Amino acid sequence: MTGPPDGDEGGFVVPPPPRPSLPVAGRTARWPVRRIFCVGRNYSEHAREMGGDPGREPPFFFQKPADAAVGGGAALPFPPATADLHHEAELVVALGRGGAGIAPEAALDHVWGYAAGNDLTRRDLQAEAKALRRPWDMAKGFDASAVVGPLHAAAEVGHLSQGRIACRVDEVLRQEADLAEMIWPVPSVLAHLSRLVRLAPGDLVFTGTPAGVGPIRPGQTCTVEIAGLLPAAVRFL
Ligand code: MN
Repeated sequence: MTGPPDGDEGGFVVPPPPRPSLPVAGRTARWPVRRIFCVGRNYSEHAREMGGDPGREPPFFFQKPADAAVGGGAALPFPPATADLHHEAELVVALGRGGAGIAPEAALDHVWGYAAGNDLTRRDLQAEAKALRRPWDMAKGFDASAVVGPLHAAAEVGHLSQGRIACRVDEVLRQEADLAEMIWPVPSVLAHLSRLVRLAPGDLVFTGTPAGVGPIRPGQTCTVEIAGLLPAAVRFL
């Protein structure tokens, strides 16, 4: 009458999902992905091309599911439900220490390292969501939407506050800017975000994209390059 059914030895009632993880440059150990946060509109030219006013808006955030993370070098099926898949070249910050209410002056102490990333976006679904004042989740958080190149330890490459960021689709240069053009630099991003949620080791933060976002078609390869880091390339089937 009471108590667990026969054969119940604890554990999980369905197989637990695998922990999402990503490659680390030069190591066999991998990066365990906890949460994926993304900053909207962090370069003024991109804010303008998306219809915003870069001078007035504090940073805002959205998330992708941890299991949307995919390492660079992958051949991906073209995402469903879109006719307008866009690339967004971004610096990804990997947190080795957590915390809430982090001061900007202390924020870099929480950074383990960096990677080149691509915040893949179903732009048609995002435009519809904006028009209807609906959430962005299905535009931004679809399967394999968070492309992350090999992670590099800050202890090896330093902290990145400047340097070239670029995106190519096949051999055509689509985006080219400097990390120094961020409206909110990495310490400010982490300070703002940590006032909204408690951050923890394993968290990744996509720090926004410069101008020049545009479509990727089936059969094309999209490569994000950041000075000092290995690139993040994906090919779409
Ligand atoms: Mn983005």
